[in-house]
Amino acid sequence: MPDFSIGVDLGGTNLRIAAISTDGQLLEKITLGVKVALGRDHVIGEMCDAILRLTEQYRGSGRFVGAGIGVPGIIDMETGMMRKSANLPGWSDYPVRDVIERRLGARVFLENDANAAALGEKWLGAARDVDNMAMVTLGTGIGGAIILNGKIFYGMNGMAGEFGHVTIEPNGVPCGCGNHGCAERYASATALVRMAREAIDSGKAPALAKAASSDAEFSARSIYNLAIQGNEDAQRIFHRFGVSLGMLMADLVNVLNLDMFVIGGGVISAWDAFAPSMFAEMRERSLVYAATAPDDPKLDPKNDPAVKKAGAAAWMPNYTRKKTIITQALLGSDAGLYGAARIPAS
Ligand SMILES: [Zn+2]
Repeated sequence: MPDFSIGVDLGGTNLRIAAISTDGQLLEKITLGVKVALGRDHVIGEMCDAILRLTEQYRGSGRFVGAGIGVPGIIDMETGMMRKSANLPGWSDYPVRDVIERRLGARVFLENDANAAALGEKWLGAARDVDNMAMVTLGTGIGGAIILNGKIFYGMNGMAGEFGHVTIEPNGVPCGCGNHGCAERYASATALVRMAREAIDSGKAPALAKAASSDAEFSARSIYNLAIQGNEDAQRIFHRFGVSLGMLMADLVNVLNLDMFVIGGGVISAWDAFAPSMFAEMRERSLVYAATAPDDPKLDPKNDPAVKKAGAAAWMPNYTRKKTIITQALLGSDAGLYGAARIPAS
């Protein structure tokens, strides 16, 4: 049996932990509904107990090489401390890595969750064997990660890749970061709901208003369901989303000129509703994309079994000239788990 590592995805609501072999096989995955509100020490205690249970269980089959932990925040890579996390109050300036290392008696690595997801997609997902890529994760906000020559590009102090706070509307909606008009205020799950609420409040979207009034959990998915049923207000919201994401992607392609840009996060299940507007906007705004776009930009894993299996990298040999590949993530919410587990194993 091969050696194995542990990947941890520490989210705002769930703590997920997986034992993954160094050749990429999932051995076991557990989800703990850990109450982050109970505080840092409680969460770390539950996490370490679960990791120890898993390592004990699989120790007989291979060597445990360490644990990688994806966290929603900015990390000081040298000290293993969290600098800042909106979702984890009370974790800042605490030696998270060292404390967990002592408890486990093994090597532990902290990584930003967006970076972990990119590493996962590079290892086993859409960006397999692609050395230069960026990942854009659409969720509550927009997460970003840049991989250059196979390694995360951190910038001066770990803050590179804040794609969500790129300005796309000079006089746009205020953002929690202090800026206004940030990309994540127009192209995230939160943004879809906000735009729908605004359309309802304007009194000009009666069908949306009707759907929202009978749906206690009026969500991005509700808006998507309306859009595919032909509701024009919902379609307009996804168009706005696609145009906004296209602006961001055009900027990223112009600046970075990478081989591949992987778009992940729960909202990609609505790909059909926003991708056409996104691709059109990218061609319009980015000369680099217009010059390097594949002939068929859809690149939808659902339409091509080879790509479902091998990721969009499956297309690469087909191109005699290099193309900019914009594609969906393949690992879903597990990308961060795989990526975190990859760190101690690589
Ligand atoms: Zn912002």
